[in-house]
Amino acid sequence: MESTLKEYFGFTKFRPYQKEIVENILQGKDCLVVMATGSGKSLCYQVPPLITKKTAIVISPLISLMQDQVMALKQRGIRAEYLSSAQTDRNVHNNAEGGRYDILYMTPEKACMLAASFWSRLLDSGICLLAVDEAHCISEWGHNFRVEYKQLDKLRDVLLSVPFVGLTATATEKVRGDIVKSLKLQVPHVTIGSFDRQNLFYSVKSFDRGTAFLNELVTEISACADKAGSTIIYCTTVKDVEQIFASLKEARIEAGMYHGQMSNKTREDSHRSFIRDEFYVMVATIAFGMGIDKPNIRHVIHYGCPKSLESYYQESGRCGRDGIPSFCKLYYTRSDFAKADFYCSEAHTAAQRKAIMESFAAAQRYCTTTTCRRKFLLEYFGETCSFGSCGTCDNCTNSKTESDMSREAFLLMACIQSCGGNWGLNLPVDVLRGSRSKKILDANFDKLPFHGLGKDMPANWWKALAYQLISNDYLVETFKDLYKTLRVGPKGMQFLNSCNPDYQPPLYLTLTPELLRDDTSKDAVGNGVVNSLAQPEFDRLSQADDQLYKMLVE
Ligand code: ADP
Ligand code: MG
Ligand code: ZN
Repeated sequence: MESTLKEYFGFTKFRPYQKEIVENILQGKDCLVVMATGSGKSLCYQVPPLITKKTAIVISPLISLMQDQVMALKQRGIRAEYLSSAQTDRNVHNNAEGGRYDILYMTPEKACMLAASFWSRLLDSGICLLAVDEAHCISEWGHNFRVEYKQLDKLRDVLLSVPFVGLTATATEKVRGDIVKSLKLQVPHVTIGSFDRQNLFYSVKSFDRGTAFLNELVTEISACADKAGSTIIYCTTVKDVEQIFASLKEARIEAGMYHGQMSNKTREDSHRSFIRDEFYVMVATIAFGMGIDKPNIRHVIHYGCPKSLESYYQESGRCGRDGIPSFCKLYYTRSDFAKADFYCSEAHTAAQRKAIMESFAAAQRYCTTTTCRRKFLLEYFGETCSFGSCGTCDNCTNSKTESDMSREAFLLMACIQSCGGNWGLNLPVDVLRGSRSKKILDANFDKLPFHGLGKDMPANWWKALAYQLISNDYLVETFKDLYKTLRVGPKGMQFLNSCNPDYQPPLYLTLTPELLRDDTSKDAVGNGVVNSLAQPEFDRLSQADDQLYKMLVE
């Protein structure tokens, strides 16, 4: 095995897990391979055909990806080809059927369309494995569900004795389970590598849309692009791609663009030029990059909250594949959080919609957490972390200011509780701020003792506080159809129960920029934000009906 590795790939050692996976495949076992982007999954299905001299079938979602891999393999003297609906070359077909390729890539559509006679002839020549790359595409819980992948189970019945190998970098348990079920893997050998990419530095910042921030971003990108290595900027919309691209051009920064509304040709040209270092900055939608293997990407910047942590992990994971320290930055605005509807347009069923909503909510929590980002990501993917802080993320390295927010937290949570817990965040904040909207008057919420008590702070400040209470488990978000509702969780109830109108036990929260940012904040920070709420307003609460108070904390 080692000599094959050396002969064809020029590597002297297997990376963790690769060898044992190859061995299991050689023994005829099904495998599930869940390993981080860049960890070397491809090798696991590329080595067995070279040893057994039988064909490896590899299902891959994108033609461009297959083309890249086939080209790279051919350069190494490996007989590789791909079949897609567009591949009409009769010779390729004949060679494939005759087992004259070591590695035969195909799209899932193509694989399902091939005649039984094709498979039986190829089986006669010998098939050493069938690999399904990017196997999370099979799962509705994944971030890249593709209907064509669902039909791959048909192949299992045709290729009875062939080991099936599912490979993905998406590690949630639901996705894993779906892959095993959909590919009908039989007692598979399961490999779950660590998702910790130690050379990546994670950071997150909120921003306000506008020219000021664009300028800031351009300056930052030009600083990145100065160093050797490339930068990818991921945007959530084509419009953003075009805008940032234009700003970069204006600043005379060489950049490329990649999104779904470009013609195939210009898109492929752009991709190729980026890979060949003809420019160093790529501005793209998330359509860009699946499977790209460019070792020297130094910065991956997300402009806007990603739709899920699975996709964030994969996209950001494209940086630093060569192991050199690299940076994953995420910029989000509050308005991003209202985009769930936009992502839900991809959903076909209620279950899918729920999955999308939940994934999106997790990405939002990642944005607003004040704890270690690496730990947050790893735990999201089901890893247990032995460390409390990694030392290589913004939250671990920035000095933190904590402040006792017990009074404000009490107000907000008590208000949410007394509004009945069936609302999103806007309504309780409006009540606190003393709104007399029809909705509030109709529900008699203007009679609540909290009505207007929070008017000294802007609505966004209260929302920022709510996000902190969510990320610290005091408040819990749940989903009702398309809408998020917010209720006080067990930890929050415990806090409320130990409060009375005149006394609240301390509740320390990290002061995020949003909690500092407002016109009164300059002063408020120094004295602790607490004091900025006028005391007389609280007094009104002390006089509030005791019974009402009891009702709401029960
Ligand atoms: P994945 O599919 O898991 O994201 P790839 O299979 O594309 O990762 O591999 C990522 C990089 O690691 C590639 O450049 C590959 O050549 C390299 N690589 C894989 N295995 C080894 C190895 N044993 N030694 C050195 N480099 C390796
Ligand atoms: Mg791969
Ligand atoms: Zn950290």
